[in-house]
Amino acid sequence: MVRIAETLMTPAAKARVQATLMPGESLEDLASWADEVRQSRPQTYNWHFVDIPLDSTGLDMNRDCAGGDCVIAQITNFQTAWVNPTATAESRREALLFLVHLAGDLHQPLHCANNNDKGGNNVPVAFLGNSTNLHALWDSGLLRTLAGEDQLFATLSQAITADQITAWSSGTVEQWAGESFQAAKGAVYALLPAAEKGQPVALGQLYEQMVESLLEQQLEKAGVRLAAILNASAQ
Ligand SMILES: [Zn+2]
Repeated sequence: MVRIAETLMTPAAKARVQATLMPGESLEDLASWADEVRQSRPQTYNWHFVDIPLDSTGLDMNRDCAGGDCVIAQITNFQTAWVNPTATAESRREALLFLVHLAGDLHQPLHCANNNDKGGNNVPVAFLGNSTNLHALWDSGLLRTLAGEDQLFATLSQAITADQITAWSSGTVEQWAGESFQAAKGAVYALLPAAEKGQPVALGQLYEQMVESLLEQQLEKAGVRLAAILNASAQ
């Protein structure tokens, strides 16, 4: 996702990122930093998701993002900090580190939907016989079924069309979250088979095949939109 973004960043944005990172650091390596500080900075805990109720028709910022305590409001805040020419070096760096992470979280459908199950964390799953839960499956388990990282990057970055870049770069963070919510509703949950009473939901290759193109497109969109965010400059 970060590597896709890097191919789409303007020279000016690349230079700004370079100037924000320390020597030897890469954007990709820093993408997990926001998860690492989540425990020591509990006020950032809710910044990684927005709980849009699965049985609702869609996002309601007053209901789902009260007080700006959600991923949508935080991406917007850090976007503003990133383009602010008078921001301190420290706040610009923090904005970059959160944006590179939260752009990914926003495109994980279960970070934008909740079925009274902690975004799928409380849904036990047996995936190809391995015990996990629905949220973790979408965070990482399904990713491991795709091609290796280098091959995946090559395939996805070649597959993205110019029209898709234009379309995906437009719109608002709220709309992008709405797409993730619809993906959760229309695919992540809709394609789940019923579990036997007291048993985890048994998932295997069939589920994987049905959601693979969605999963890949969410990664593509995250990369395109991270680039769009970082390419923006002060108006
Ligand atoms: Zn996160």
